[in-house]
Amino acid sequence: MKHLPTFFALDGRAALVVGGTPAAAQRARLLLAAGARVTVAAPGLDAAFDALLGSGAIIWQARWPGDEDIDRAALVFIATGDSGRDHAVAALARAARVPVNVTDQPGLSDFIMPAIVDRGDVVVAVSTGGGAPVLARLVRARIERALPARLADLGAFAARFRDAARALFRDVGARRRFWERVLDGPIGQLVLAGREPAARDAMLVALNRADAAVPRPGSVTIVGAGPGDPDLLTLRALHALQQADIVLYDELAGRAVLDYARRDAELVYVGKQKAHHSKSQDEINTLMVAHARAGRQVVRLKGGDPFVFGRGGEELAHLRAHGIEATVVPGITAALACAAAAGIPLTHREHASAVTFVTGHLKNGEPAADWAALARSGQTIVVYMGVSAAATVRDRLLAAGIARATPAAIVENGARPNQKVSIGTVAGLAALAARHVSGGPALMIIGDVAALADTALEPALAEAS
Ligand code: SAH
Repeated sequence: MKHLPTFFALDGRAALVVGGTPAAAQRARLLLAAGARVTVAAPGLDAAFDALLGSGAIIWQARWPGDEDIDRAALVFIATGDSGRDHAVAALARAARVPVNVTDQPGLSDFIMPAIVDRGDVVVAVSTGGGAPVLARLVRARIERALPARLADLGAFAARFRDAARALFRDVGARRRFWERVLDGPIGQLVLAGREPAARDAMLVALNRADAAVPRPGSVTIVGAGPGDPDLLTLRALHALQQADIVLYDELAGRAVLDYARRDAELVYVGKQKAHHSKSQDEINTLMVAHARAGRQVVRLKGGDPFVFGRGGEELAHLRAHGIEATVVPGITAALACAAAAGIPLTHREHASAVTFVTGHLKNGEPAADWAALARSGQTIVVYMGVSAAATVRDRLLAAGIARATPAAIVENGARPNQKVSIGTVAGLAALAARHVSGGPALMIIGDVAALADTALEPALAEAS
């Protein structure tokens, strides 16, 4: 470690920025954010200072600084853009024993500026000892992604209850455990999901029963896992997975996504395929409630989006009816993932002004869809769970008057390494499906937009019919 990481209190104190460069303006803005009184010393200022000058936030001294200017400052920042000048001013500061930072010159600096992740009062600073600022920025970007956007809200929330918790828990260890349960449990989750009123209610209950022996209440997060590629998880889904004690997952959720669950989380397959000893919907509902009642953080992981042909609505209603705290994290549904991966725009100014998601799942041997409405031109139809019913879909659409040559695409294992795209027409849909499908999840995209599929990407996989 080359430097001592500290956070310096500057509120109301004088800071001197030397130089009129854009880098100097950036320093001035940062210092203002920390509450410093900022003086900028330089004969001329870059346009980057315009807003700062206009708002009256800084004092401008239109000359290079002298000893007396430096003496008054708690910290000095130098970014003149002229190496000789930088050296000279740094020497003055050093003689006056005022800590100095020179932009891009760690050798001339008493302290260096870290890359920062700023979430209100929660600030993470990253240093590489001044040697590799770009690396520091890359590390910062990773931390940005890992920290929920509402972390600042969580910090402010905790601060509001700090005195109450301190009064209740005299014992430091008990207080720490209480806060860990609050911040890392369902109350923290509620704040991070933007549900502060519910979080406040839960916090009041927790404080009223302030007893370390009280088990923390469990909760269920119904998470959309997207099409199976972990890159297409939302950040909120990732956070939920990393908090989970137990993950109840479906076939479609995909193994690759499960790798992102907390290391010691219990992973339970509940997919509904009969052959795989899987569970019925009733059994899944019962499991979710039982685990949440046992105080566990349950993630119910579902392929795509929980609310698109996913029975997420039924699961949510069941949890609510049983008084279990439940939230839903949306996921990228198969239609969106497959369309993007195949290069098929679902709407297009010239070809489609509407898109409908229908299920090809047969009820009493019939897909339950309004074929007459769907067959009208100028729209896109995405059929989920419909490949095995391709012949019926074709017959109903043709009977409803759709043009035989209307383009149709089948995308199997969309957004996965083994993705397969085939392009044909409505008339050839059944043959296309029979040739195409090899058992993975697949959907059909029907409408003029299907002809725009990006066949160039995978010429071997795309075929005309
Ligand atoms: N809730 C899910 C859909 C579940 S229904 C979602 O929002 O995506 C299951 C159907 O989704 C499958 O029969 C198939 O039609 C479609 N599907 C799911 N994942 C898919 C994928 N990776 N590629 C193609 N189709 C997929």
